[in-house]
Amino acid sequence: MSKRFNTGIVWFRRDLRLTDNPALHEAVSACKHVVPLWLDSLDGDWAPGAASRWWLHHSLEALAADMSACGASLVLRDGDALEQLRAIIADTGADAVFWNRLYEPAAIKRDTAIKQSLREAGTAVSSHNAALLSEPWQIMTKSNTPYKVFTAYWRTAQSGLQLREALPAPAKIPAPKSQLASLPLSHFDLLPSVDWAAGIRSRWQPGEHAALGKINRFSKAAVRDYDETRDFPAVDGVSRLSPHLHFGEVSPHQIWQAVRQQHDIDDEGSRVFLSEIGWREFAHYVLYHFPHTSDDVMYQKYADFPWREDAADLIRAWERGATGVPIVDAGMRQLWHTGWMHNRVRMIVASFLVKNIRAHWLHGARWFWDTLIDADLPANSMGWQWSAGSGADAAPYFRIFNPQRQGERFDKDGDYVRRWVPEIAALPNRFIHQPWAAPDKVARAADFTPGKDYPLPIVDLAESRDAALAAFKSLKEAAS
Ligand code: FAD
Repeated sequence: MSKRFNTGIVWFRRDLRLTDNPALHEAVSACKHVVPLWLDSLDGDWAPGAASRWWLHHSLEALAADMSACGASLVLRDGDALEQLRAIIADTGADAVFWNRLYEPAAIKRDTAIKQSLREAGTAVSSHNAALLSEPWQIMTKSNTPYKVFTAYWRTAQSGLQLREALPAPAKIPAPKSQLASLPLSHFDLLPSVDWAAGIRSRWQPGEHAALGKINRFSKAAVRDYDETRDFPAVDGVSRLSPHLHFGEVSPHQIWQAVRQQHDIDDEGSRVFLSEIGWREFAHYVLYHFPHTSDDVMYQKYADFPWREDAADLIRAWERGATGVPIVDAGMRQLWHTGWMHNRVRMIVASFLVKNIRAHWLHGARWFWDTLIDADLPANSMGWQWSAGSGADAAPYFRIFNPQRQGERFDKDGDYVRRWVPEIAALPNRFIHQPWAAPDKVARAADFTPGKDYPLPIVDLAESRDAALAAFKSLKEAAS
């Protein structure tokens, strides 16, 4: 079969997989030779944090191994992306460049400029959708404005969904005739110099094979009960696919197909699970249409919210899991040790930071950014603005989580808290979410001294709730 192009470069970014990879698939069918390339041009304000970089190192390692089994070597470069692409074009005579789209504002800006320059120089450029079920510009209200509410967005998105079978991985990637210069992976310093990643390493396996295995297991069994188990952090009821999805080790199409192959269309567990994939789509959609929302409120009426300026010590206690509120500390310690936190607990710790401590939501977004292995600009910005009440389809500000009650409801037997806050593990269930209230006799029996073995709450839950409501009221009054 005749090929349209002589040599094509496939620029991998956050699509670190061989199956269901539209850019790779097209390049292999359209080019005589294919150069797989990964470029470290990850700088700027939201460059990957430490935990993400750990994941990226191992994901690249896995991709390079899979690629070599297909007869190709992954070329690693750093520096300005356009310059590097031009250099490889000059070395190989490449006449086409392929990539899968990113949707963050800085990436869109960069990719648009690169596309234009390459095309002006006579190189074909072909970009694809590998990360989303629908392109953000395809789903609009009847008046052609972007949706701001999830349910209406998801209804429209689902009605127009064009599901497809996953594209197969290429059996062979035809390498160029001569070997290209490539940097060693160690050059990028993605791993920490002091090894703090043991807890992450023992729990996670980056790479496409691990991701596919996880979907397979989850879609066969756990998804059936997802609607009932997903809110309980001590239960293994969620997929833990988020880092794999962020780095594009799997596609949402593959997830959708895997779930639908195993389950009935009306099955409540899979319906709810797929709607979470919908939230991921919505997060990308919102950031695409409202690019300022990674750093600024969605609605200007929240711009002057009176955040506390003197909260540095409180923020530090929150980061370290030393707030004296067990469910908050359990979540923050789970995050620190494993690079991940259960969604219910993310909502609780975020609410505690922005409402009880009244620290700006960006403090939390930045901490998550550095410590989460699944740190993802659209989902993280949406999660934090949801918690602060200032984003699209956000929780109303006056709905303030009571972390003690959240703990009693979603960690009834205290298993999650006992796991991460062993200092209070011997307390009976009645006090596990309020150790400060344990009578002396109970505390002594549990060999626990409040304020010594474990801190007293750094803020009074009722008073800080009232202060948050008053701050919100002042904002409304100022606006009226
Ligand atoms: P599952 O419950 O198994 O869901 C499956 C997939 O759906 C997830 O992997 C994820 O891709 C998507 N998803 C689920 N819930 C959401 C949601 N609320 N918003 C967007 N996508 C969702 N998710 C990230 O991937 N990266 C982040 O940086 C991130 N930051 C967050 C910050 C805050 C303050 C909050 C409240 C939520 C944040 N989330 C983030 C969303 C959510 O907590 C995680 O996606 C989820 O906990 C990941 O675990 P899982 O893969 O087991 O999820």
